Amino acid sequence: MPVDFGRGCRKGGEPVKRTVVFTDLDGTLLDARTYSFDPALAALGMLRERHIPVVICSSKTRAEIEHYRVKLRNGDPFIAENGGAVFVPRGYFAMDGGLSVPSGDDDDSRYLVLRLGASYRDLRGALTQLRDEGFDVRGFGDMTAEEISTVTGLPLSEAVMAGKREFDEPFLFSGDPQMRGELVASIERKGFRITRGLFYHILGESDKGKAVSIVTGMFRREYGDVMTVALGDSPNDLPMLRCVERPIIVEKGGGGYDRILAAESFERAEGAGPEGWNRAVMQLLEKVDR
Ligand SMILES: [Mg+2]
Repeated sequence: MPVDFGRGCRKGGEPVKRTVVFTDLDGTLLDARTYSFDPALAALGMLRERHIPVVICSSKTRAEIEHYRVKLRNGDPFIAENGGAVFVPRGYFAMDGGLSVPSGDDDDSRYLVLRLGASYRDLRGALTQLRDEGFDVRGFGDMTAEEISTVTGLPLSEAVMAGKREFDEPFLFSGDPQMRGELVASIERKGFRITRGLFYHILGESDKGKAVSIVTGMFRREYGDVMTVALGDSPNDLPMLRCVERPIIVEKGGGGYDRILAAESFERAEGAGPEGWNRAVMQLLEKVDR
């Protein structure tokens, strides 16, 4: 859905730098336990009023993000599976954001899809090898939708969407925490990486930061310089937070910030998940141009 995102002008004719918001979902815009974004409705309404794009950047799948985009009435590009792919609604940018994507399986009629992540089959293969090496790992691909629903707390219909992985595999690691270092090393020896959100994730060279940089480039190509903001709560958000001008972290459900993110000089929103999100975005909007 094309948005009214024309380049505004101040009274003197000087161009206004427009804002683009990138956001994580789980534990950030969505409550970590209930997956509700209700506490952020006020800020979401103001963003919509001002036509400020909200680019979802989540470890969730395309299917899950589509579900939330409908609930949020969001028509902006989005980033799925920890930066595994960028989805740009056709016609959103003039010249499709400069994307030249060969037609193929990914050439969805609604989006241009830029694949950045590893193939899911390869990730699943790596997980099998890890099990053979004695690591107690269990991926979403090993679980029924009912099991995914149990471990995530998602309703069954959303657990089905969560299982539709394409570029990133969330997994549980029940082994000795001492073996975590060996697990990381073994994953890296296989040419993959590990990150952490609500779960561990095995993925390829992609991360949220690379995908956010690409999408920022598309907005800049279209609208000139933009002011980038990102909100996150977990270590998998670190690359995204590092590549924007205004990185903001929200508190965890039990209070306090993620230890790894707190070690950085990021802006701290007071409040867990969507409450912190709402507060930070409202404060931001008070300062940026209408
Ligand atoms: Mg999160």
